[in-house]
Formats: sequence, C-alpha cells, structure tokens
Amino acid sequence: MYDYDLLVVGSANADLVIDVERRPAAGETVLGGDLAVHPGGKGANQAVAAARLGAATALLARVGDDSHGRLLLDSLRSAGVDTVGVLVGGAPTGVALITVDPEGDNSIVVSPGANARLTPADVRAAGSLFHASRVVSAQLEIPLETVVEVVRNLSPDSRFVLNPSPPRPLSSEVLAACDPLIVNEHEARVVLGDACVSEEPADWAKLLLAKGPRSVVVTLGAEGALVCDSSGVTRVPSVKVDAVDTTGAGDAFTAALGRQLGSGASLAEAAEYAARVGAAAVTKRGAQESYPTAEEVDAL
Ligand code: ATP
Repeated sequence: MYDYDLLVVGSANADLVIDVERRPAAGETVLGGDLAVHPGGKGANQAVAAARLGAATALLARVGDDSHGRLLLDSLRSAGVDTVGVLVGGAPTGVALITVDPEGDNSIVVSPGANARLTPADVRAAGSLFHASRVVSAQLEIPLETVVEVVRNLSPDSRFVLNPSPPRPLSSEVLAACDPLIVNEHEARVVLGDACVSEEPADWAKLLLAKGPRSVVVTLGAEGALVCDSSGVTRVPSVKVDAVDTTGAGDAFTAALGRQLGSGASLAEAAEYAARVGAAAVTKRGAQESYPTAEEVDAL
C-alpha cells in the first residue's frame, strides 16, 4: 500500500516577470510594467499539476528561508501537495527573472539558489518518501548527482519517470531506470548527442530506447506525442484547442503521465490522458495557474 501516487523530486522557483517595450542594452536602464511573481520551477509545477488532477502527491525540493520560499510552500499546499519533503534554507529560493517583450518573446536569467543545494544526502534522508511512492518523477533543474541518487533510492517495485530538462547527456545508470524517459525535440537531440542521425521523431524514440530506458515518450507540442517501448512506436494524437500560452505544458504532461501510470494505465493510455492535460494547460495563461482538475480534463 502506497501513501503517494507520485513523488516529484525537483526544483521550485519564484518566476519574477516584467513586461518591457524592449530589453536594456549593457549599461542601460528601461522602465517596465508592474512586477508579477508566480510560483514555478519544473518540480513544483509537476507536483501542483498532479495534485490538481487528484493524485496523492509529495515534493522533495529545497527553497530558501525567505518570502519566495513561503510563496512556493503556500501554493503547493493550497494545491494539495504534501510538503513534508520540502527542505528550507541553505541558500535563497531559486528565481527566474523574466522579461517579456510586446511580441511575447521571453529573456530569462535563472538563479538556481536553493535548487542547487538539493543534495544526494537530502535524497538519502528522504528514504521513507521513496518507499511510500508508487511513481517517482524528476527533471534536471537540480544537480545531476542528486538525480543519480534518486535512481539508487527507488523502491524495487516503484516506477521512475524522467524529463531531462534542461537537457544534458545522461549516464547509462540513469537511462536504464527511466520508464519512460520523456523528451521534447530539443531534449531528444541533446540526450542522443552523436547518435541523433535522423530528423524523424519516431527514429529519435527508437534511438533513445536503444540507449537503455524501458520506454520513451517524445512530446511534439500541438502534434501530440509518440510513445515507444519494446513493442514499437505508437502515435498519441493531440487534442485541438485554441492555444493561449504553452508555458508549463510539458510539466503538466509529465505529471499526468506519471499519475496515470501509477493508477495502472498502460503507457499509451497514460500518454493519451497526458496529451489532454497538456492541451488543457495551453488554453490558459501561466504554468501552475493553467493546470486543470480531473473534471476539467474529462470535459475537454
Ligand atoms: P514546455 O517546455 O513548453 O513546458 P515541452 O516542449 O516540454 O513544453 P510540449 O511538447 O510543448 O512539451 O507539450 C507537451 C504536450 O502537451 C504535448 O505532447 C501535447 O500533448 C500537449 N500540447 C502542447 N502544446 C499543445 C497545443 N498547442 N495544442 C494541443 N496540445 C498541446
């Protein structure tokens, strides 16, 4: 019997957003619009997305002992995420400084802060969370050695889902634990490296599978996704929606997929549901603010 459907191990950031007419050149100051502060970070986003869908969800992360850390804890708790694994202190909360120009293009500076201090020792100390979780998911906004320790602390019958974002080459130990590895086009190219010998997403899925994961999902934005395991590649169609803002769609997709796998769905079934959750998320502005409830997904 598990206490959690999903344990997310990852980042929590405050996103500080200012609209600007244009970006400042070196040495220049420009005036922008009012500051908006949003809870973000891929780990916190995935945890909130899963909890909004009704999954019993815990987050293992680190925030600073500061107002941004408190904002993140509040937003996680009000979404229903168990924050027993959210460690506080050691560095300021991670921050993304985002300017948005009139064309909607972003420039982003990230200060990882406390996310960079989530250590392998923190993972070992959270061993009881791993035993209590059916599915564990991670991303790469925390140190890679911490993700390696996550893989080493998985319970024998739990399932590991990895979205390698921002992408880096991965060791065979980490790749072998993934079931599935979830990548978009850019992540697929980086993880494949020299092995990226095709322009076809279905080939990336097969080439990635050959690197060791038990299964692979390639997300294709408005084109949906591909799932790939030893039985071959299956296309998961997207749901037609009026996209308003695609921020955080990948996190919503990954969280929903992990949640469905934990309920016993097949990979193709879980990806089909995750595609609906991703589609719902792009119909609203923001990341966490855009994540649907299970009822909203059913209504789509
Ligand atoms: P991001 O990094 O922006 O969070 P991503 O690149 O990791 O996203 P995407 O492939 O853009 O991930 O989106 C994840 C899933 O969400 C897609 O596989 C698809 O199912 C759904 N999705 C994304 N954009 C759209 C869209 N415009 N219309 C319908 N579904 C979408």
